[in-house]
This record gives sequence, C-alpha cells and structure tokens, in this order.
Amino acid sequence: MSNETIYEELGVPHVVNAAGTKTRIGGSRIRPEAMDAMARASEAFVRLSDLQAEASELIAEVTGADAGYVTSGASSALALGAAACIAGDDIGAMARLPETEGVPDEIVMPRTHRTGYDHALRAVGARIVDVGTNDRHLGTGSRNVEPWEIADAIGENTAAVAYVEKSYTEPPLDVVCDIAHDEGVPVIVDAAAELPPMSNLSAFIDAGADLVAFSGGKAIRGPQTTGILAGGADLIESVAAQHLDMHAAEAVWEPAPKLVHPGRLGGVPRQGIGRSMKVGKEEIVGLIRALQLFVEEDHDAVIEEWLERARRIAAELDDVDGLEPSLTADDKTAVAPEVVVSVDPEVAGVTATDIVGGLRREEPRVFVGGDALPAGEFTVNPMCLTDDEADYAVERIVAHVEE
Ligand SMILES: *Cc1c(COP(=O)(O)O)cnc(C)c1O
Repeated sequence: MSNETIYEELGVPHVVNAAGTKTRIGGSRIRPEAMDAMARASEAFVRLSDLQAEASELIAEVTGADAGYVTSGASSALALGAAACIAGDDIGAMARLPETEGVPDEIVMPRTHRTGYDHALRAVGARIVDVGTNDRHLGTGSRNVEPWEIADAIGENTAAVAYVEKSYTEPPLDVVCDIAHDEGVPVIVDAAAELPPMSNLSAFIDAGADLVAFSGGKAIRGPQTTGILAGGADLIESVAAQHLDMHAAEAVWEPAPKLVHPGRLGGVPRQGIGRSMKVGKEEIVGLIRALQLFVEEDHDAVIEEWLERARRIAAELDDVDGLEPSLTADDKTAVAPEVVVSVDPEVAGVTATDIVGGLRREEPRVFVGGDALPAGEFTVNPMCLTDDEADYAVERIVAHVEE
C-alpha cells in the first residue's frame, strides 16, 4: 500500500477509509471517468443554465421526476428545495430570503426525522415545526408520530413537509405525501445516502415526493461537492432562479428556456440565497458522467464485492482474542454490508475507544466507524477500501489489540 499520496507531499497524512462514505474524510472515491470529464469541462466555457438544463433532463430520466438540478451537495439541495417551497415564483420573496415576512415559512417534520442536516432548511429562513413524540425510541410508548399529527400541524403558514428517508422511517412516505397534498403543500425528502439500490432513484418520486435530495458524492461517486435535487418543474425553476448567477443585464437575460421562464418570473431575480452554494461547470459535468455510470452499473456485483470484502475482514478479526465481529449485510439500516466488531476489554486489554482513537492518530490515519463506541463496538465498512487497504486496516486493528 502506497504511503506516497499527494497528501503526504503536502505534509498531511492520508486516510485509509474503513468508515464508509463520510464527508469529513473525503466521501467516496470519485469515478475516474468523472474526473476525466471534469478535466475536459475545464477546457471550455458554457452557459451554466444550459448545462443545468441538460443535467435536469438526465435527472428527470433516471428519477422519473419532471426536472432536476445539480447542487453543491444533498445539504444544499435541501436548502434550495426549502427556498423554492417558501418563495415559489415570487421574485420579491426570493430577494428577501432568509427574511420570510409575508410568505408561509413553516416546514412540518415528524420529530423522529429531525437531524443535524435540517439546519439546511433553517438556513434559508424556514421555521421547523416538529410533530409527534420520541416514545418508541425512549421506550415510553409504542408510537412516535401519527399521520393525523402531520395533518393537524399544517396550516396557512406551512410551506412544506420535510421527510428523512430511511427504510424504517415512519409514517410511510406515500401516506405523508397524501396528507401534505390534501392540504396543498409539497414534500421535501432527504434521501442523501439511500443509494444503492438503484430503484431508490425513482422510488420516492413514485411515492409522491415533490423534491428529493441525493448526495452526488456518496455511492454515485461523483464530485464530493455535488448533490442532486429531483422534483417538479416549477419548484426546480425556483431553485434555478435562486441559485444561478444573476449578474445579468435584463435586456439580454435569456436563461435556458427548459429551466427558467423569465416571463413567468416577471423580471430578473437578484442574486439569490443559493448564490453562495455555487456549483461549477466541472462539478456539473462530473456529476452527469458519474450518474450515467451509476445507472449502468451492475449493483448486485458491487454489493457482492463489498460483501466478500466484509466477510474476509470479519473472518480475520474473528481470530483475534477479545474481538467479536459480525456482519450487518441483512440489516435494513445500512445500504452496504458492514462488519460490526464488539470489543471485550477484559480479554482484548483495550477498549473499542482505545482502538478507534489509536487508529486515527497513526500515519496514515486509519478510520473505522465509531458511531457505536458507547456500546463497546466499532465498525469496518468495505465500501471505500481496496483489498490492499482492507488488509492494512485489519493488520493495524490487530496491532492495537496485541501491542
Ligand atoms: C450525507 C447526508 C447529507 C449531506 O449530504 P452532502 O451531499 O454531503 O451535502 C444529508 N442528509 C443525510 C441523511 C446524509 O446522510
């Protein structure tokens, strides 16, 4: 395994990524074809709205939505989606965001769907109204959120309903969409990490979602700073109007007609709230190429490769006294198989926290998953490892136990 990455050249230790597609350590490995496309994109200029219009067609084709947009990440897709739900085609409201005086600005969410990422919704001026309880999580009751509670919270100040998609989130998305649509409000879905399976590209639009956000830099393996927003043509038009650079002379302002209709907007919008979430031509082209390849990919083969690597890692760690590995392959909470390693400190002589912390301080740093440290567990994720790196990660884990 090479220690001579560009990061070492810069004096920075690189990371052996056994933690999966985590933004803080660089997300996923971008597809080489996407990198190549980005280099070619840098060789010429293009009208960004033309390029976004082309991306919109591809996103529409693969998701079944009317339109789509390339954002600077799933998080910014949520922010832009919220801005579109609040401002619609009102260029005055667009210009005032995040001030929302005079327009509905509440986004209703089941309380169990609140995440750190909903800051993106609040950043553009939305006020989150969360409903339901955490009874199931706390063990204080059997039900978290009832559909009627969502209906009850929707009123004249509601701009949207937001929903975080996981295979176990409740109430079911189609039920929430029916409720929202009965009240005339759109549903924004955060599905950032819900690929693969590829069927999820269209599943949430099929369930009735008005806007769906995916990360471009996770399993799609596009540029790290990309995301996809798929949804209705009117909402995507509002996104474009609030995101595209608007340093434009009105007399000659002519954005791509498939994306934005100046007549409908009644004027040239100001630089919108999305202007600080810029997406370059290289990123848009890289995302387009990566998405094309993602939909052509044999996902069963990819998952089989991950599974095989995970099994091999688990088998090797199983030989270490004090470590108890198991696989999460059939666990509905993970898109990819993962090795969960339970550490018995009495036998291993170290805790899970010692191992995970120690690995991160090495050069190169080795990142395994540390979300379950309080339970005395760490995880090894095969998605972002080569076979050589997997061997190295195992070797280093073993070294921490046996030192
Ligand atoms: C990763 C993730 C995001 C953020 O995605 P970016 O593309 O990094 O902006 C948002 N929501 C959820 C649930 C995620 O897993």
